[in-house]
Amino acid sequence: MNQFDPRTVVMLCGVMSGLMSLVLFSLQRSYPQSIRGLGDWSGGLFLIFWAGVLAALRDFLPEFMTVTVVTFCYFLGLYWLLYGTERFLGRPHATLQWLWGVLALGGAHMWFTYGHPSLLGKLVVVNLGGILIFGVHAYLISRFQRKSLGKWLTFAALITSLSLQVLRLLALPIDPSELDFLNHTFINQFYMVGFAFSVLLFSIGTVLMASEQLRDQLELLATRDSLTNAFTRRHWNSLCEAEFLRSKRSGRSFAVLALDLDHFKAINDNHGHQMGDTVLKNFVTQVNAHLRHSDQLGRFGGEEFFLMLPDTTLDQAVLVAERIRADLGRTNEVPFCTVSIGVTTSDGRDQSMAAILARADVAMYRAKSNGRNRVEVA
Ligand code: GH3
Ligand code: MG
Ligand code: MG
Repeated sequence: MNQFDPRTVVMLCGVMSGLMSLVLFSLQRSYPQSIRGLGDWSGGLFLIFWAGVLAALRDFLPEFMTVTVVTFCYFLGLYWLLYGTERFLGRPHATLQWLWGVLALGGAHMWFTYGHPSLLGKLVVVNLGGILIFGVHAYLISRFQRKSLGKWLTFAALITSLSLQVLRLLALPIDPSELDFLNHTFINQFYMVGFAFSVLLFSIGTVLMASEQLRDQLELLATRDSLTNAFTRRHWNSLCEAEFLRSKRSGRSFAVLALDLDHFKAINDNHGHQMGDTVLKNFVTQVNAHLRHSDQLGRFGGEEFFLMLPDTTLDQAVLVAERIRADLGRTNEVPFCTVSIGVTTSDGRDQSMAAILARADVAMYRAKSNGRNRVEVA
């Protein structure tokens, strides 16, 4: 360990934070606004960059710059990172109270620098403050539901930083003067190298978390209809195509239902387009209540839907269709709305998926011409 010069490590740590701040800043500019927190993480690392660079210039710059400004940059930087995570996770935050707490930490540090000089006091402030902020931050990340590499890297970075602070606090009774961060002691070098490592880990973790979130959002955009949350036509087709091939191999039949709301145009005309949208959303919610996990509902156009039921016979499919139709007709909701449904099944002997869809469509149009609000079988 003795080969590490703490001043160099502190400087490197600062420069690295600066570089990672730039990376996050450029990501923030290229990612959609729906990915939040990137700018805050970038800002936090930028402050830590200044803390590192100024701290490394101790003995060359006035003490105020290399101690007090450094401490404020450090605490505000850590706080800004935490705030970025709160924004990223979309959680409500008690920002202002925290900011006062962080400024109070800086104030306490100033008191132990100028009012009542004490290295021990300063170290306790820095380490306790760090434990608090890293602890809350790690807790926040651990509550983040999505399991992902980015989450674990960020969490690991925070736990590493937290452990380093605890370690340093525990080592204080040995001799606080030994722990001045520019001293060549083992604990001190371990602490500085560990901190530099966790800055890198944290930055990589956040970049990964952001890209994972972007991926999730793009996937949602590509596969789900934004109004009703049913599958998009394209995605539904690909799910159906897969089921078609599966059924070709297994010989098990699956069902396809074509659903079209009756006189939907009249609902728009009489109650407005917005009410029409609400009816569509309610319809999907009601249909979903009758579905199994493996059943797939897709929205093909305005008020036209297709439903695919794997491993389902014609009788079972008609039962489901009848339940959906009856349920919709039973509600007292205004505006009242009914649905016409065409049902067909395939055991994989069909030439193509398109043939099956066309069959369901024909049955649905028969339901229309036979008076609507009914189920017809192809
Ligand atoms: P039918 O019983 O023969 O199916 O009659 P219909 O009025 O339901 O069918 P038509 O195809 O004539 O009209 C469908 C209407 O759906 C026309 C269009 O204004 C409306 N529509 C399409 N997409 C949306 C949407 O996203 N929201 C709303 N509110 N209306 C939509
Ligand atoms: Mg219609
Ligand atoms: Mg229609």
